[in-house]
Amino acid sequence: MQVSEMSGKECRELLARQGWGRLGCALDNQPYIVPIYFVAEGDSLFCFATLGRKIEWMRANPRVCIQADEIRSRYDWKSVVVFGRYEELLDDAEHEQARKHAVTLFSQRDAWWEGAYASDEVRKHASDPIPVVFCVHMTQITGLEAEPDAGQVALDVAQQKW
Ligand SMILES: Cc1cc2nc3c(=O)[nH]c(=O)nc-3n(C[C@H](O)[C@H](O)[C@H](O)COP(=O)(O)OP(=O)(O)OC[C@H]3O[C@@H](n4cnc5c(N)ncnc54)[C@H](O)[C@@H]3O)c2cc1C
Repeated sequence: MQVSEMSGKECRELLARQGWGRLGCALDNQPYIVPIYFVAEGDSLFCFATLGRKIEWMRANPRVCIQADEIRSRYDWKSVVVFGRYEELLDDAEHEQARKHAVTLFSQRDAWWEGAYASDEVRKHASDPIPVVFCVHMTQITGLEAEPDAGQVALDVAQQKW
């Protein structure tokens, strides 16, 4: 297996294709990771959530990390890591255009609100869910990809048959 670096363009293309990844945030030296959908545009990843732990943590510490991948086999994969800064697109005049733009981007996916609202059903509170639109501004992006050797290609083909 050969591992090589992906270009910035290849990393961005993977993020755009995949549209979901794992969001890492941290508070008081405690990391927390959850899967999340996003829409990649330029140097930004736009996300939708309802108020819960990850939003509370990112409000307190806006330094976040997102990882996304495409794994065909253990010898054939691509993985992208983004470091970035959380910015909440508040429901106010200042952020109105950016929020509208984010919702237009989200609308390209069916039932884009479902993951966020469904998550609220298990929270133990009496109030209505509080929607949150946010953006991760990418500050650094890296990607690695693995390609199988000839023998590993044959092994993958054999394993897929069975
Ligand atoms: C493919 C995929 C896409 C998703 N996309 C979105 C999205 O776009 N927006 C969105 O808001 N949510 C999405 N979710 C759900 C998301 O992963 C979280 O479960 C959800 O957002 C709640 O996170 P929270 O920090 O608000 O947790 P809270 O509701 O505050 O939950 C408190 C605790 O519950 C546990 N918990 C929460 N989520 C998970 C989890 N996923 N797995 C195991 N334990 C958990 C943790 O211990 C957490 O600290 C997606 C999930 C999947 C699998």
